[in-house]
Amino acid sequence: MLTLAIETSCDETSCAIIRDGREVLSNIISSQIDIHRKFGGVVPEIASRKHIEAINNIIQEALDEAKCTFNDIDLIGVTQGPGLVGALLVGISTAKALAYGLNKPIMGVNHIEGHICANYIEHKDLKPPFTCLIVSGGHTYLVYAKDYADYELIGRTRDDAAGEAFDKIARALGLPYPGGPFIDNLSKKGNNEAIDFPRVFLENNSYDFSFSGLKTAVLNYLNQTKQKGEEIVIEDVAASFQQAVLDVLVDKSFRLAKEKSSNKIVIAGGVAANEGLRKMMEERGSRENIEIFYPSRILCTDNAAMIGSAAYFNYIKGKKSDLHLSVEPNLGLK
Ligand code: ATP
Ligand code: MG
Ligand code: FE
Repeated sequence: MLTLAIETSCDETSCAIIRDGREVLSNIISSQIDIHRKFGGVVPEIASRKHIEAINNIIQEALDEAKCTFNDIDLIGVTQGPGLVGALLVGISTAKALAYGLNKPIMGVNHIEGHICANYIEHKDLKPPFTCLIVSGGHTYLVYAKDYADYELIGRTRDDAAGEAFDKIARALGLPYPGGPFIDNLSKKGNNEAIDFPRVFLENNSYDFSFSGLKTAVLNYLNQTKQKGEEIVIEDVAASFQQAVLDVLVDKSFRLAKEKSSNKIVIAGGVAANEGLRKMMEERGSRENIEIFYPSRILCTDNAAMIGSAAYFNYIKGKKSDLHLSVEPNLGLK
């Protein structure tokens, strides 16, 4: 079964053709990062316009690379939310037009579920159930994936998302947007014990996260060090900050895996590209006999292949969408 999938929730215009939810025939991603970088973040109105300009060409490129035509497509998948309303509308309107014109079924997809499903593409034998940590630019979720397209939401951030925290600290350090990859690289050269930033675990037994206190602690450290006229070693700040985030993410993921007697932890979302996170998960996983899964870098951040995978698994589970599908900018994961 061939799915044509469209992703336009933020600042990547992407179209993919994917077979049976796991095999990528094409995954064309056009990033607007260079345009938004000069503003230090995504400007929603510009994002929508750029999606409109790009979408038709991206779809054609995806078909060409997959060596197929519209007639070969069995299902249209599209990101329904969460994301920027104007940006999502471009994808949804295009997908509806295709579904109507081709008389093919349409499936609205939760973008965050898409991030999880990137792992089904990367790991052909991965099957639920598993414990899943989703760490993206706008969301931090701890989830138990009971089955395909069936999740139990266990914990979430109460303030900043993990990726957002990386981006804000990067900005304070004068690094380009998005700052996650820069922090990741600087961390390798820094001492992660140089500065003792807080680890916020919240109440005993809580699976929720909070990163705003850590963000404030880093900003205060930077201001105070500057005021004292002392040198700021940005590699050490990056490494110590990153370690404070990872300690909490990893600890809660393993605690949930234990509670669920689950021997698989899956990481998803842009921050799953973080080498420190991957390494720390794998080291602890090998000590505690828990297998760790994450997508390759290109599948961690926004792309339509992951949306095609989620559309497929929802479709075969019997979920239905139709042409009344509308954008859901604040869509949650159950
Ligand atoms: P959401 O999926 O929540 O709607 P988004 O789509 O903007 O948000 P993603 O595309 O999943 O987010 O991920 C982008 C985020 O991932 C950014 O915050 C970016 O800094 C972060 N990121 C990317 N690579 C790394 C890395 N190596 N280390 C840490 N963070 C990273
Ligand atoms: Mg993006
Ligand atoms: Fe995303």
